[in-house]
Amino acid sequence: MSTRLNGIGMTSQRTRARMIERLREQGVKDEAVLAAMFEVPRHLFVDEALASRAYDDVSLPINFNQTISQPYIVARMTEILRNGKPLNRVLEIGTGCGYQAAVLAQVAKDVYTVERIQPLYERARRQLRDLKMRNVSVRYADGTAGLPELAPFDGIIMACAAPTLSAVLREQLAVGGRMVLPVGMQEQWLYLVERDERGFRETRLEPVKFVPLLMGKA
Ligand code: SAH
Repeated sequence: MSTRLNGIGMTSQRTRARMIERLREQGVKDEAVLAAMFEVPRHLFVDEALASRAYDDVSLPINFNQTISQPYIVARMTEILRNGKPLNRVLEIGTGCGYQAAVLAQVAKDVYTVERIQPLYERARRQLRDLKMRNVSVRYADGTAGLPELAPFDGIIMACAAPTLSAVLREQLAVGGRMVLPVGMQEQWLYLVERDERGFRETRLEPVKFVPLLMGKA
């Protein structure tokens, strides 16, 4: 791994700096998020054959019909989740290659991430371990039910789209917590769910395109 890291290390640092500039142009303002995106070597989360495209603003295939989200959407969702404040405990549904979890690990104290496809789970766990991201815990499970035994979370992020807003997951939010998730089938929107003492508030943000939330383990 270290050879690979060193091999494209310099190039990817420059490429990463360009990615940060582009994220700023796209409206990402949170400096902590931009720093996190600069920190995480995105090219190590995709197949070697795709590494040269890792910093383009596109989603890329990661096998098993799944994709790594485009940089803008990872940055945007993290920015909304953070809301300018440090995060304590965060839950992610849909680890995929582990990239979003690695970015979250830079801005949160503890990250729990759940993946239903075993080979993806194993690869993400290995990758995050190699990068010494000790505050990320990867779980092999159907994330539909969240992780009630570890709730409440002050942030919940979903990397796959459910047809409707999940009532189960929002119950695992702490008071003052935020959940960011895509909702819908063909037409999907990013939603923000905020919890306060009185209840929940939902805000529809922007159109998005995510892979679907699926049930059960695979
Ligand atoms: N955050 C990821 C994006 C992965 S794509 C990244 O940074 O690369 C979405 C992932 O959600 C896929 O890997 C898919 O297998 C997973 N997923 C779909 N339904 C799920 C469920 N019920 N529980 C856990 N993971 C699920």
